[in-house]
Amino acid sequence: MDTDMFDATTDPGLKSFIDVAPDAHFPIQNLPYGVFTPRPRAVPRVGVAIGDFVLDLSALEERGLFDHPAIRSHRPFSNPSLNEFMGMGKEVWKAARARISRLLRADAPTLRDDADLREQALLPMASVEMMLPAEIGDYTDFYSSKEHATNVGAMFRGKENALMPNWLHLPVGYHGRASSVIVSGVDVRRPCGQTKPDDGPPRFGPTRLLDFELEMGFFVGPGNRLGESIDVRRAADHIFGFVLVNDWSARDIQKWEYVPLGPFLGKNFATTVSPWVVTLEALEPFRTDGPEQDPAPLPYLRSEPRRAYDVRLEAALQSEAMEAPHTLCRSNFRYMYWNVCQQLAHHTVNGCNARPGDLMASGTISGPTEDSYGSLLELTWRGTKPIPLPDGATRTFIADGDRIVMTGWAQGRGYRVGFGEAAARVLPATCRA
Ligand code: MN
Repeated sequence: MDTDMFDATTDPGLKSFIDVAPDAHFPIQNLPYGVFTPRPRAVPRVGVAIGDFVLDLSALEERGLFDHPAIRSHRPFSNPSLNEFMGMGKEVWKAARARISRLLRADAPTLRDDADLREQALLPMASVEMMLPAEIGDYTDFYSSKEHATNVGAMFRGKENALMPNWLHLPVGYHGRASSVIVSGVDVRRPCGQTKPDDGPPRFGPTRLLDFELEMGFFVGPGNRLGESIDVRRAADHIFGFVLVNDWSARDIQKWEYVPLGPFLGKNFATTVSPWVVTLEALEPFRTDGPEQDPAPLPYLRSEPRRAYDVRLEAALQSEAMEAPHTLCRSNFRYMYWNVCQQLAHHTVNGCNARPGDLMASGTISGPTEDSYGSLLELTWRGTKPIPLPDGATRTFIADGDRIVMTGWAQGRGYRVGFGEAAARVLPATCRA
């Protein structure tokens, strides 16, 4: 029997004593984890999002409200990152989630009727500062959307050779840069670098082709020892949860530098993630089949079915002149050809060790239709089809002052399991050409 099917914490009928609108992102069925600072100069700690509030788990820990022995003895929610909790594994995650869910239920008096505890532990989300959810030791970016790989390949190599010969046999990826992963809200400086115009010598200056990539990423839970690997059928037990990811990309720098070793300075200047980590448990009701894989993958990559997740994704642009973000594309996490279990199994099959808090991003998630492409490179077809904005301006690539806003949610019956936002504004370059 699949006991996950009967997890009381995802029951669509559950209600919290905190009001949450049906289209809001953080109902009691979600309970995403994040790291926040309650007030300036305070120590960051772990919380969960509920409605427009953050529940301070370190305060609950202090009150002895968690009964799992590992949580009682290690107090992982008083840490300034989720790494320790991520590394504790599924049994502890399940116990913590069940406890938090019970405390927030409409019919549970412990927190609801304790004014002191509520005052201490329930903070308006607008009053806290969100931090990166984990200390990210390593960051890997895959390239797992067939539509995206096909679009990019068609642009640069022609339709006939769009997919490289390896692409249908293994989840292609590259090692990214962990030091420049930043949380939503932190401004991004337009990078400078070396580019080469088609008709002239290499030059140095600000990128002219700044792009976003609409992605999702997962945080590794318990890792694997160096020299060992994670079996594809057990890989889900090593995945803590998901965030939205914007893999900012400087297309002109990337184009000149990427041969033969792949992405480098065109990518590693910034990667924005959303602050709330939505757990696998919360997404369990939204598991679904991914695309059919043909040819069949090698045995070490054969995952169980229903390892895709039905998460709607959007990217929007707001220029300085605009009052609200304008949606550029709508995609879905379920379009991914290679699923997260296959990615993690492949990443570790050679004995490479993954560690708690490692971030692994999906690659740009493009869908089958032109309005579902997850980057400006594809949406404007290499800049040949400018996008009109509501104020009459157009964009081929990102301009200084533009804010890129990514959002995503899984739609339940009467509620949403949302990811909040991964948003950031682009500041002008500081270098001179
Ligand atoms: Mn990417």
